[in-house]
Amino acid sequence: MDIMVDTTTCFLCRKMPAIENSHILPKLIVRAICEQVGGRGLREMSTPRLRVEQTAVVTLLCTKCEAQFQRYEDNFARSCLRPYFIDDQIVIKHDAQLLAFAVSVLWRVLVHTLNQRVPSALLPYIVRTVQAWRAYLRGDASGLGEHKCYLFLDRELSVEQIKSSRCLNYVDLRFTIEQGAALVTNFIGVPIRNVVYAKLGPFIFVGTIQDVFCGKADHLMATWREIASHAQADSAVDDGVQVPDEIVATLDELASRWRFSEGDMKPERRAQLLAGFAALAPNAMLKRLHEKDETLFRGPNGAP
Ligand SMILES: [Zn+2]
Repeated sequence: MDIMVDTTTCFLCRKMPAIENSHILPKLIVRAICEQVGGRGLREMSTPRLRVEQTAVVTLLCTKCEAQFQRYEDNFARSCLRPYFIDDQIVIKHDAQLLAFAVSVLWRVLVHTLNQRVPSALLPYIVRTVQAWRAYLRGDASGLGEHKCYLFLDRELSVEQIKSSRCLNYVDLRFTIEQGAALVTNFIGVPIRNVVYAKLGPFIFVGTIQDVFCGKADHLMATWREIASHAQADSAVDDGVQVPDEIVATLDELASRWRFSEGDMKPERRAQLLAGFAALAPNAMLKRLHEKDETLFRGPNGAP
């Protein structure tokens, strides 16, 4: 498997020596999220009780390729993430820059996944995905083939979806980070798609590793909105957009992973968790989302 050998060479260009401190989740983006949470500290969605001291760093890219990714990150921070933290109703324009950023992040997460324990049945698909995305990032391929990338936003989860989940809440949906691979199933447990994901605060990037469901899936699941490389004409936010239920279920599963006891489940868990940092709320957005959670899970009168 040529992808695994010689880890001291840059994984992207395979020419230059790799530097030792490439961040799997982009440093600039993580820093921008940190600024929002202030004293509460950065959290992972799967371990909301623990502060993240340092995000994963590996030997991955040479300085030149690192600079290429840095340009995508600068652009994403400037045109998407920071504006969204000021006004979460802004239009997120799908264009080549957004797609390049998404692929660069998901590719990194997937390469990192390859270096960990991976089910052997999934390995060939991961390798194929890594190769397809590398070709795209190198400019050797014009598209992603079957390994499409999608973007879901926290604002696209409905009140009902959050309310009927086990562990989701507004604050964690907006401010946590997470990365990994997962098998997405539909509402009756039929496997649909193996995916890699990177959650950067309110932006949840998902990429296809393998389509598992071979039949006609239209009646079983909603269409996932693919990141298009051309700018969309519409300039208004589509209020009708909703995150597919199977993605919500995957997020909920992730958020439920490290529950310590039944008491961690909502609404009790939230009451404790949220009350703990309400006083810290450093900015209006955190405070507003916290209040939304309180209303949703405690009820307007404070009843559980
Ligand atoms: Zn390189």
